Order: sequence, then structure tokens, then C-alpha cells
Amino acid sequence: MTNNDIISKGQDYVMNTYGRFPIALVKGKGSYVWDASGKQYLDFVGGIAVCILGHCNDEINKALTEQAQTLWHVSNLYWIKPQVELAEKLVRESGLDKAFFCNSGAEANEAAIKLARKYFYRQKEGQRNQFIVFKDSFHGRTLATLTATGQAKYQEGFAPLPQGFVYADFNDLDSVKELVNENTCAIMVEPIQGEGGIKPAELSFLRGIRKICDEAGILLIFDEVQCGMGRSGKLFAFQNYGVKPDIVTLAKGLGGGFPIGAMLATDQAASGFAPGDHASTFGGNPLATAVATKVLGKLCDQDFMDNVKQMGDYLMEKLQQVSDPRIQAVRGRGLMLGMEFAVDSKELVELCMQKGLLLVGAGPRVLRFVPPLNINQAEVNQAVSILKEALKEWQA
Ligand SMILES: *Cc1c(COP(=O)(O)O)cnc(C)c1O
Repeated sequence: MTNNDIISKGQDYVMNTYGRFPIALVKGKGSYVWDASGKQYLDFVGGIAVCILGHCNDEINKALTEQAQTLWHVSNLYWIKPQVELAEKLVRESGLDKAFFCNSGAEANEAAIKLARKYFYRQKEGQRNQFIVFKDSFHGRTLATLTATGQAKYQEGFAPLPQGFVYADFNDLDSVKELVNENTCAIMVEPIQGEGGIKPAELSFLRGIRKICDEAGILLIFDEVQCGMGRSGKLFAFQNYGVKPDIVTLAKGLGGGFPIGAMLATDQAASGFAPGDHASTFGGNPLATAVATKVLGKLCDQDFMDNVKQMGDYLMEKLQQVSDPRIQAVRGRGLMLGMEFAVDSKELVELCMQKGLLLVGAGPRVLRFVPPLNINQAEVNQAVSILKEALKEWQA
């Protein structure tokens, strides 16, 4: 089947919820993917910060096929060995105490929202059910998580939305303080905003939020669905700040391309849930957790994380050297970088694609760079040189 065959069939049968680029990717290896015509692309999208070990990584392929020949699925009616192993590893590395598994980022955040409310309900403080969230955040597409998302475009047409969410300004501690009251149960924030334009939180901001939470007995939830799993140069983005949350959510990179989400919590916060309070049929399934355990194992290797830091610094330096009057800022952390333009950058993304480099925007004016974490210097050089060529041709 050609690209066009796949696209026209897709238009006939797949629901029209995505603005898609006009290619069908059919194969991947390492940092490269191929479309149905055989054209090769250097992939700096990685399934949107998902394929952290690149495509079809041999080690996780092995973990997946071994598990596929052993046990696919049972149910959380029973103990699941790879799930228990993954929970132990995540707990050990995060400094939190308990893990809950689900299948996506939205579900992980939905679980966090439910846990925070139930925690106060169990303390006989059920009126304490309000969340402080942030403008330009992104937390997912379920009704509760899109309400937590501080961007009107995601909410339009879905009223009535769940109640109990108020919106502060990111990196503005005073705007948070103004919203805290006796009904606040949790503050939910991305340590590095992803979809909102690759914006890292300032150190004083995250520390200030932790202090507010400690003083008022509020739970702090970090959404690390995008910035977690090594992306920032540390396993958890919060480890860059020395600020520990009560609850943290993970998904995207956790399975390296296999769908899985997780919520980690302190024992105290986790005490909000008792058997029957929350569940997921597929959550923590043997296939997903066997793969994620392997992925996490790779990230616990110091050499691997050194590469993230080195390549992140190198890419940042290269991007900062690109000279173009339309570039307004280059920012981010580790291998989660953004280049902000004065104008809409969608056409630039298309030009890069034509030249064999996949990139994705983070909002209309920010180019996002979220390559595999095991990217090498030659691949970074190739990406930057394609970007420079595309900039030369870009009429905007
Ligand atoms: C992608 C993303 C989500 C939603 O994850 P899904 O798996 O698409 O549900 C939530 N939070 C952040 C920060 C994300 O980047």
C-alpha cells in the first residue's frame, strides 16, 4: 500500500480527530522511521516523547517477546509479577512509596485527581476538593483532565465540565497564593510544561509551591507524563529541583512505545485509596509492565543518563547557534527542548518533514525537540543541518 492508499482508506474509516501529516509511517529502527514510499526520516518526535530508546530497540523487543510467550494478561484480581517488579523499581528511584498502573497519561492524572479527593474525604474533609492548576498546562483529554488543562481550546464544546478547578499563572507564585483557600485539596503542575510550549518551572516557583502545600496541608501533584522518564536529564524532572511531590504521574516514555501509565504516591497520600476505590482492567498488564521494567532498567544506567545530559547540552548549544531573526527563544531541559518563533511555525515543520526530519510543535509558535534519549551526536548534527536548510527556504 502506498502512502496515498493508506491515507484515503484512513479518511474513509478512521474518525476525524487528528490533524495528520500526509504520510503513513510503516517501519522504524533506532532514531529513524520510514514511510510507505520507503522515504527515511530522522525522528525527533519519537511518538511525542514516547520512544525513548528509539524504534524497535532490541532489548525491549526481547523483553516484550519473552513476556508474550509467557503470559499476556490476567487481571488485577491476582498478583502480577512484572507489575510488582516495576512498582518496586519506580518506588526506589522516585523516593515515593506506592505505584498504581493504568494505560495513559490522562488516566494517570485522572487517578491522581481521584486520589487527592478521596484522601481528604477519608479525613472527613470532603469539602476540600478544589485543584489549583495552571494556564497553558496540558493534563489529558478525559473530562476531568481537560478541565485541569488550562487551555480553552481543549474545553470548548464539552460543557458541563467537572467542578473544582481554578487556574493560576505558571511561574507566578503570587497567583497561586491568591487561589489557596480552605477548599484546596491539591496543586497540580508540570515541572516542565510540554504542550504549553516547553516551559521549565523556575526553581523558586516549584520550591514555593512545595512550601505553600506543606503549610496548608495541600497535596502536590507533579504531572511528569512528558518531562519524566529521563527526558529532563534526570529520571524524574523533580530531581532537578530538589522538590518532592506527594503524587507524580508518568506515561509517555514509561513503556518506550508500549502503552502504560503510572501514578506514584507517598504512603500518606496513597492511604486515600482502599480496595474498590479505583481500578483499570488493563492497568499494570504483564506485557506493559515487563517492557516498562526493562525501559526503566536502561534509564537507571548512569552512562545512559550521561548521554541524555550530553546530547541535551549539545543540541541546546547547536540550536542557540542557529541564527534567524524569527527565533525568539530556545529553552528546555535535557532532551526536551523548544525553539520559539515570532510567527506560526507549522510550515517550518512541513519543510523539515519534506527534508527528512520529523518535528512537532508545542503550541503554534514553538518547535519541539524530543528525540530518543539514546540519540548520538551525528544524528543531532543531521537534525540541526536539516533545520537550517528548512529555515533558509521558509517564507514567513
Ligand atoms: C501527553 C500528556 C498527557 C496526556 O497523556 P495521554 O497518554 O495522551 O492521555 C498528560 N500530561 C502531559 C504533561 C502530557 O504531555
